[in-house]
Amino acid sequence: MIGGEFNGNKARKLAYFLDTNLNKFKRIISYGSSQSNAMASLSVFAKIKNLEFVYITDHISDFLCQNPHGNYAFALQNGAKILFHKNRAEFAKNLATNLDLLIPEGVAMREAEMGFKSQAKQISDFMEQNNIKFDVFLPSGTGVSAAFLAKNLPNCDIFTTPCVGDEKYLKKQISEFCDISNLNNLHILNTAKKYHFAKPNLDLIQIWQDLLTQTNIKFELIYDPVGWICVFENLSVFKNKILYIHQGGLNGVQSQLLRYKRKNMI
Ligand SMILES: *Cc1c(COP(=O)(O)O)cnc(C)c1O
Repeated sequence: MIGGEFNGNKARKLAYFLDTNLNKFKRIISYGSSQSNAMASLSVFAKIKNLEFVYITDHISDFLCQNPHGNYAFALQNGAKILFHKNRAEFAKNLATNLDLLIPEGVAMREAEMGFKSQAKQISDFMEQNNIKFDVFLPSGTGVSAAFLAKNLPNCDIFTTPCVGDEKYLKKQISEFCDISNLNNLHILNTAKKYHFAKPNLDLIQIWQDLLTQTNIKFELIYDPVGWICVFENLSVFKNKILYIHQGGLNGVQSQLLRYKRKNMI
């Protein structure tokens, strides 16, 4: 958690662009789901950079449309223009001209590496100063965070679990922006049960609530519960103290909790 409205791993992913002169662009265009953490972060980023932000999503529930909340409301408040199209990626690509900075879904791009170089340095400095060695764990969507952290922290083992799709899908995603054959320190672990991405599930809300009451740390409610279940199910593979990376995303907790409430699961 690196503070402020612009936080979490999405801020890490955008660190390169934060320090780059974007004067030649008028707009940022991106696409993805209607409650995405990346959308929320991009809306803040665009505001900081004084650029328009256009976001294409393929679907929004009637409830969300009539009662904007969570990341969707946050993006709207930051001036995001949200468009709908069933082929969101293709539509975004066609819309973009050379005056637009096109950011792929989940900021899955090579430029995202820079923020993880500095995260890797923070971790290795901490380990050195405290004479400690970590096994690092973080849950994955696109795998950008885990892969770039592994690449830049070669002396540590980095463990992750796929929250979107399976292990094969995660590897394929990573291979699109990073040479995975060299990442010998990146380990993909699995959970015993497969959790459908972002779908309310009693195991997930249970561990999220346990974490909150026992540690007083509020985690994000889509990736982190799967991550923590994975950690507890695989404790024997860790050889060092575990560093679990909190990747922000707390803006989305409200809308996810509402979904649990509406399904009478809490
Ligand atoms: C986006 C996000 C992830 C997934 O990160 P990737 O780099 O796409 O793997 C995990 N946790 C949180 C809280 C996120 O917002």
